[in-house]
Amino acid sequence: MTPANDPIQSVEQELIPRIDHGAFVTVRLPFVHPFGTSVQVWTHKEALLLRLTSGQTVAWGECVADPDPFYMPETTQTARHIIRDFLLPLVEPGLSMGELVRRFTHCRGHGMAKATVENALLNLIALQKQIPLHDLLGAPAKPIMSGVSIGLQDSMDELLGAVAKAVSRNYHRVKIKIERGRDVEWVRRVRDRFPDLQLMVDANGAFTLDDAPLLKQLDAFHLSMIEQPLSYADIHQHALLQRSLETPLCLDESILGLDEAVAAVALGACRILNIKQGRVGGLIPSMRIARFAAEHGVGVWSGGMDETGIGRAVNIHLQTTPGFTIPGDTSETCNYFEEDIIDKPVTLDPEGYIAVPEGSGLGVNVLPDRLMHSMVDWELIR
Ligand SMILES: [Mg+2]
Repeated sequence: MTPANDPIQSVEQELIPRIDHGAFVTVRLPFVHPFGTSVQVWTHKEALLLRLTSGQTVAWGECVADPDPFYMPETTQTARHIIRDFLLPLVEPGLSMGELVRRFTHCRGHGMAKATVENALLNLIALQKQIPLHDLLGAPAKPIMSGVSIGLQDSMDELLGAVAKAVSRNYHRVKIKIERGRDVEWVRRVRDRFPDLQLMVDANGAFTLDDAPLLKQLDAFHLSMIEQPLSYADIHQHALLQRSLETPLCLDESILGLDEAVAAVALGACRILNIKQGRVGGLIPSMRIARFAAEHGVGVWSGGMDETGIGRAVNIHLQTTPGFTIPGDTSETCNYFEEDIIDKPVTLDPEGYIAVPEGSGLGVNVLPDRLMHSMVDWELIR
């Protein structure tokens, strides 16, 4: 493909505008329900936001890191340090986005910090061009499939109730979190009640290879995938496990960028990839991973990090691009927050689809009063 018709090369050629001001804004939003996984239960979303100003244009990026290192090693504080002291100094007006992403590779890891800056800059460019972000990514708008991630529940009744609610909303797929002790029997009960549901499970690394016989029992429930059953740092043992299972494995935490995706596919560690753009360095690296996966017959979907409406909108725009053929973790705002910091909240149409927000950039408006209400910290960067 030439740059003119290759969407990745095209977005890489976009030039960075002059940045007048940068600021970190930290917001804290209570979850409607605590979100429990095998590693932690979170009751709030605390998000580090990056606000960039260029002339009259204000653009936002959201860092998907948690304040703690319980899910991934990066935290809001490490991201703040890396963005302020290492990434923003690499941003120059007139530099192409592709060159910036290459410069970022000098800083090892820290994909969440990198994605924050990349997202804010792409949003800024789209706003100044007065086009939607998906246009900048070279993709037309389309209805986005929805998926919901149901956290660990205290009782079977609560789990069945939560799944029933998702089914009634016409979500395209339902994911339930599992952990040791809340595994095969819990899945069996959900499958018995909802025999035709597109159902998957996510263990967030709760198991080891010794649990292969137990995980093998999940083959009976025709799950669409088992997500990250083994360690967040592993690829090799997932390859050994995949050989013994009929159910496809999906890697999430193990995929930090294209290199891990290549290794996972080469080793047969998974048949599906969860691309969290906010973790792998942003939209451009995500599009590269999705292209690689499509070339190798591996399905991809867009994962979520319980983002505010800013990060949620970024994930929606990403899912217009080629390769995102599997319903992701994008669900209605009301599953997470009573009030988001943006307008409009994400909702589902009667068939369970999500509309790409219309308008320039992300297509969502940060509401100043909501922002002030949820803001817990503010820092001018330059
Ligand atoms: Mg996951």
